[in-house]
Amino acid sequence: MTTLTNLGFPRIGVKRELKQALESFWRGEATASELQDTASALRKRHWQLQREAGADVVPCNDFSLYDHVLDTAFMLDAIPDRYRALADANPLSGYFALARGFQGDGIDVHALEMTKWFDTNYHYLVPELHENQTFRLRSDKPVAEFLEAKKLGFKARPVIVGPVSFLLLSKTVDGSDRLALLDRLIPVYAELLGKLKDAGADWVQIDEPCLVLDQDSDDQAAYRHAYRALANVKRPSLLLATYFGALEDNLSWVTSLPVDGLHIDLVRAPEQFDAVIDSLSSQWVLSLGIVDGRNVWRTDLDRVLPLVKRAHQRIGGERLQLAPSCSLLHVPIDVTLEKALPAGVYSWLAFARQKIEELRTVADALSSANALHALETARLRQSSRKNSPDVHRPDVAKRLAQIDGHASRRMSDYTQRRAVQQQRLRLPAFPTTTIGSFPQTHEVREARAKYKSNKLSAADYETFLQAETQRCVRFQEDIGLDVLVHGEFERNDMVEYFGEQLDGFAFTKLGWVQSYGSRCVKPPIIYGDVRRPSPMTVAWSRYAQSLTRRPMKGMLTGPVTVLQWSFVRDDQPRAATCRQIALALRDEVLDLEAAGIGVIQIDEPALREGLPLRRNQWNTYLDWATECFRLAVCGVRDETQIHTHMCYSEFNDIMDSVAAMDADVISIETSRSNMELLDAFVKFRYPNDIGPGVYDIHSPRVPRSAEMTQLLARAVSVLNPNQLWVNPDCGLKTRGWPETRAALVQMVEAAQAMRHIV
Ligand code: GLN
Ligand code: ZN
Repeated sequence: MTTLTNLGFPRIGVKRELKQALESFWRGEATASELQDTASALRKRHWQLQREAGADVVPCNDFSLYDHVLDTAFMLDAIPDRYRALADANPLSGYFALARGFQGDGIDVHALEMTKWFDTNYHYLVPELHENQTFRLRSDKPVAEFLEAKKLGFKARPVIVGPVSFLLLSKTVDGSDRLALLDRLIPVYAELLGKLKDAGADWVQIDEPCLVLDQDSDDQAAYRHAYRALANVKRPSLLLATYFGALEDNLSWVTSLPVDGLHIDLVRAPEQFDAVIDSLSSQWVLSLGIVDGRNVWRTDLDRVLPLVKRAHQRIGGERLQLAPSCSLLHVPIDVTLEKALPAGVYSWLAFARQKIEELRTVADALSSANALHALETARLRQSSRKNSPDVHRPDVAKRLAQIDGHASRRMSDYTQRRAVQQQRLRLPAFPTTTIGSFPQTHEVREARAKYKSNKLSAADYETFLQAETQRCVRFQEDIGLDVLVHGEFERNDMVEYFGEQLDGFAFTKLGWVQSYGSRCVKPPIIYGDVRRPSPMTVAWSRYAQSLTRRPMKGMLTGPVTVLQWSFVRDDQPRAATCRQIALALRDEVLDLEAAGIGVIQIDEPALREGLPLRRNQWNTYLDWATECFRLAVCGVRDETQIHTHMCYSEFNDIMDSVAAMDADVISIETSRSNMELLDAFVKFRYPNDIGPGVYDIHSPRVPRSAEMTQLLARAVSVLNPNQLWVNPDCGLKTRGWPETRAALVQMVEAAQAMRHIV
């Protein structure tokens, strides 16, 4: 009999119960045991749900109060010294101190660094190790959660992060070799596996997702060494789980590791099926990841079934397992709770629960005939999606087919553009500007909530927003900024705001996905061809420009960022969807230009996030990503100045592409790195204008102008002063007005000082 398993389930709860519980605990309004009660209630509910949906075996230890990599570090006692006293005194407070930092009782520690989990929008905490790092089994969380499931009557398979991926996902603070710590780590894993065996676990899912990355010979040796060492200890059988890509060149040696089974991602990498099955050890279990764990679409079961049947023929039902491609952490829980989606779209979607039901249908179809009805329903859904006029719009296809190379090139090169733009804008040296948003105060959010729940009329909401915008424009004039913005008060979120106005996007009510810790996002769903029915921002930009003689910067979110922060349709290449968004934005850019807006900024903070996991695929991505940006902006005349903004980026290895975007001005986050990020631009001899952020917007701290002139002096020492703009690191929406005012006054002062010096 083929087994239906799952690799992991969302933890946060349909109504974000975990978020509420965590935040009230952090505020001191709930006790630790209240928090733990919520956590165990969620685990129980989710196990139940998975079983009801048809899972034979449910995952355990996939739950986390904050992050599973942090859990692993904590369990292994990889706790940096600065947190140790806290963790020893109170493990839970210590754990949260690693996650979020801690201030009080004479202690002041910042959190571990956070970074993206592969190419998902989930963020994990990066364990900090050092040369003399030791490990011990500090907690038995995996055992406890296994026993908890067992006691409730669930057949559960513990999930643990494998030792090699754990080290590769960590960093050493002293520059020592992470993998050199492997020998100290292995005994702790052996101890944990022994305990799981004693507790009654017959299988463990050991996640080694780094196996889908480029792995060098040292990495390879580490896997060999680790799994050889774990081969002969008392332990459950090991299912080595890989996901997010193909094993590719790693396959040849992975199949000789002494484990008992392999999970492969056949959604991201269906092409690896034959190679894997051909090289599979005759003892191994094979877990097929056939349902997309990272996206919200129903599976085309007619495409998947032949594959599963082939595997069944080759290795038999006993050794075959069916699973999602990866943990379901990256999708919302249950689509049946969505009552307001368009009927078509609703029927095409599968969230975590529906994905397990799909797997049930496949498993049933393998063993008996009672899946016919479910298969037929699935088929109807596929064909309705394939034939829907809301998905396929001939006008969009036609327009896409007509674009040629000219569409993604500015009329003249940068030097020529710069001259006409200077004539038109007449900006001083070191022009000052901001990145777009101004404080989204309680009043702003309250007004929007009231408007959305019909407690405030459209007219009153508009009047309110106009007053905010006007105040913001006056403020910027008063303190002497050169290029103004309208403040983005009308926007809830930089992607949602545009998605709501474009054809082809749908929005959920409860489609929450964990971003990090208690933070969740509700990504828009791009289900169909994207089109702009009417202008989106022009009225606000025009209104704001009418209030001032200074240049008002139009403000848009770029095509790659919209794509990156949404659930994207899977029935055409991502590049095609991105081009459609780019064309919609191109219309907006041209309308802004026609409305007299002479400076337009298109934010692309997520450009780097879209990089493929394997290096050899980078160029393809970067080519279409930068082309899409240009497609959005290149329709304008020379005199229209195009800005872009990218925060949180490392630029060194993508400098060619940043240059290929050919924005007249780029603003980047640099203040926290003491302008280090600028080095990439210097090395590259980046020719266009740059606004290196001169102050950190993540904290309410008000920097003095002298600090900013210091940073600018550093920039001047390596770049042409004529290239430089002066702006904060990013938008100001999370800040309050008092510190915003104070900081910007200092910033303008710093720019003025620079004009005198240089
Ligand atoms: N224009 C946006 C803002 O100011 C940019 C946000 C971002 O870069 N993430 O809020
Ligand atoms: Zn930013």
